[in-house]
Amino acid sequence: MEETLDPADWEHLRSLGHRMVDDMMDHLRSVATRPAWQPVPPAARERLCEPLPLCESDPHAVYECFRRDVLPYGNGNTHPRFWGWVQGTGTPLGMLADMLAAGMNPHMAGFEQSAVLVEAQVIEWLRELTGMPAGTSGLLLGGGSMANLIGLAVARHAGAGFDVRADGLREQPQLIAYGSAETHSWAHKAMELLGLGHRALRNVAVDAEFRMSLPALARAIASDRAAGRRPLAVIATCGTVNTGAVDELCAIAELCRAERLWLHVDGAFGALAAWSPRHADRVVGLGLADSVAFDLHKWMYLPFEVACVLVRNAELHRAAFALQPSYLAPVGRGVAATPLRFADLGYDLTRGFRALKVWMSLKAHGARRIGRVIGQNIDQAEYLAERVRTTGALELSAPPSLCVVCFRYRGAAARTDDELDRLNEELLLRIQERGIAVPSSTRIGGRFALRVAITNHRTRRADLDALVAAVLAIGAELERA
Ligand SMILES: *Cc1c(COP(=O)(O)O)cnc(C)c1O
Repeated sequence: MEETLDPADWEHLRSLGHRMVDDMMDHLRSVATRPAWQPVPPAARERLCEPLPLCESDPHAVYECFRRDVLPYGNGNTHPRFWGWVQGTGTPLGMLADMLAAGMNPHMAGFEQSAVLVEAQVIEWLRELTGMPAGTSGLLLGGGSMANLIGLAVARHAGAGFDVRADGLREQPQLIAYGSAETHSWAHKAMELLGLGHRALRNVAVDAEFRMSLPALARAIASDRAAGRRPLAVIATCGTVNTGAVDELCAIAELCRAERLWLHVDGAFGALAAWSPRHADRVVGLGLADSVAFDLHKWMYLPFEVACVLVRNAELHRAAFALQPSYLAPVGRGVAATPLRFADLGYDLTRGFRALKVWMSLKAHGARRIGRVIGQNIDQAEYLAERVRTTGALELSAPPSLCVVCFRYRGAAARTDDELDRLNEELLLRIQERGIAVPSSTRIGGRFALRVAITNHRTRRADLDALVAAVLAIGAELERA
């Protein structure tokens, strides 16, 4: 008796599929009526530690386990009052597209197939939205960390001055990269993974608005050159994770040109501000990058995981990764008629069809509507910042930028900074644990701050009013304690 994993009874599974779609639509539609976050209760936690299932169960029963123990206890990021870290919410259409992508299940190394044309089309649209020139090359990846890594890997290959693919890294001269002290931790890990070492990543000082200081950058480059090291790349950030600051991209691009350095821009969320015509001026210079990485699962709101890297010089992009073993060589006609277009642009060979949700969402919503919602988030961040400024008991911890607002509760009584740190930390935990909202936290100038990053298409101003009210109420409650 031969077996398959297709259902014995297709109608049985079909009915489950219909139910799943109905349930998830209801779930998403009613997300605002539930707590912004709730912890996994002990009973569910226990059931999620079970022995390896060796025998079959009815998929309907398995689905019930999902509904009971998994679905209610996510980290909250689909909720309108989730603003922690920088996470996206996902969209109902994106969810359906992911289902179609898994159903069609094309292998996205390349090959002669429609899905490859869809990803190529998506890259081309994203290039246009980012302001990179025609001929730019690109790839979709699982996240900003991977997309940034690819950009830096191309920079390393292009700028090492020797064949780093063939010979590996040499002791001398040491290759150096520069990022501001506000650079996201991906860069630290990427330097390690690329063999450059994180000590070769210079943490350039920032100005009062948390942007990379150009004089400090120029000094760091000069001092490395004087010491016989080889400056390789500048990592500019368009939208820092702490405060949303945007480095001065045009000026940095000019400096990179003069110094013959690769300019990589980490635009994980900030690059998407270019999609809002009212705010595009805040990220000008994006298109001057040699490579730029950005997420689509953050500020394009798509379900995880999808990000993009764009590389201005398509030849250099390919040169850093292309490889053709005999079993992957093109063979003239048929499925493998063309070289593997995507596997030659990154490390992954097997890749999924994440392009489909990007393609369907851009077609269905249009870039204008998505850009309007991005702009709406920036307006909401400005609204929150204004409420903080005009509320005596609150104060901004850093200048707000793009969708990020960092602030803290001050209260009326005089308190030391240490006391305020403790009070605000407890305040944040109560807001999360009571399921009111999910801001996250950071330290600005060493001081604890509540951090709100609005990459959420479900947020309304009333949600931010609710946050302010909760911060004031819990702050007063802690002051009384
Ligand atoms: C989120 C983020 C990253 C990392 O992206 P992932 O998609 O989480 O891998 C890198 N840089 C910045 C500025 C980010 O906000």
